[in-house]
Amino acid sequence: RGKRAFIAGVADDNGYGWAIAKSLAAAGAEILVGTWVPALNIFETSLRRGKFDESRVLPDGSLVEITKVYPLDAVFDCPEDVPEDVKSNKRYAGSSNWTVKEVAESVRQDFGTIDILVHSLANGPEVSKPLLETSRNGYLAAISASSYSFVSLLKHFLPIMNTGGATISLTYIASERIIPGYGGGMSSAKAALESDTRVLAFEAGRKNRVRVNTISAGPLRSRAAKAIGFIDMMIDYSLENAPLQKELSAEEVGSAAAFLASPLASAITGTVLYVDNGLNAMGVGV
Ligand code: NAD
Repeated sequence: RGKRAFIAGVADDNGYGWAIAKSLAAAGAEILVGTWVPALNIFETSLRRGKFDESRVLPDGSLVEITKVYPLDAVFDCPEDVPEDVKSNKRYAGSSNWTVKEVAESVRQDFGTIDILVHSLANGPEVSKPLLETSRNGYLAAISASSYSFVSLLKHFLPIMNTGGATISLTYIASERIIPGYGGGMSSAKAALESDTRVLAFEAGRKNRVRVNTISAGPLRSRAAKAIGFIDMMIDYSLENAPLQKELSAEEVGSAAAFLASPLASAITGTVLYVDNGLNAMGVGV
């Protein structure tokens, strides 16, 4: 039987989530995605109208099939957590069952189990502010959307993950080195995500032999990255200073994710894998 993957954080064909979906599909996995509720309509419409068809092409010429798109807002664990103003918001009221617990339950009802869980989402409302100017609410929102969202996804999906399954999240080197401009508590959120990768590797490993790894990816011109505002500078910096002087493609991160999710990586858990043209290893810019 082929493997089944749930990828949280796909809303267009530019980001890492999309590239990971493609690599997993190319390796034979069935693809389910979780799409942020406010982005759901446009994503589904674009998919249906063929707007992504060019980027759906796999190496063998076939097109990636997404078996099902689930609306998801990973900052809410269950319906009781959703405040009135969100509940009644037009974009949210049009969908249902999009809290983490409900999505896991829907996937269980529709498919029974999954083998691979991917977390490719982050949000920091104050990302453009330096940490010293970040509000408590902004900081907590960054942690909620970008770090606890993974804890919650794993907590709710672990019971439906087959033994030997794998989970992958995406992190950024701003967790451990100073990257001015990656503000709003996002650097803190990535540090939490990496630390949680180790603790959760232990807990999920002991519980159901599920592996937990994170990929520290280099800069990519995704929708989320463009919103931060310094992505072109980071891409230029990497081109100039990394051991491998080439632009990083989302496919390279997709391939690494497919490896981590595969039996080739069956003894790898609790790790941060750099997929960044080696930039992390540099001590000075040259
Ligand atoms: P992206 O815009 O493709 O993905 C981010 C996704 O998160 C979007 O689809 C957005 O709709 C979704 N999202 C935001 N809040 C959500 C919520 N509450 N619930 C559900 N979904 C939500 O951008 P990306 O850059 O590919 O980001 C994917 C991951 O890669 C993130 O964790 C990001 O931090 C990480 N990353 C990106 C870069 C980069 O340069 N682009 C570098 C390193 C790591």
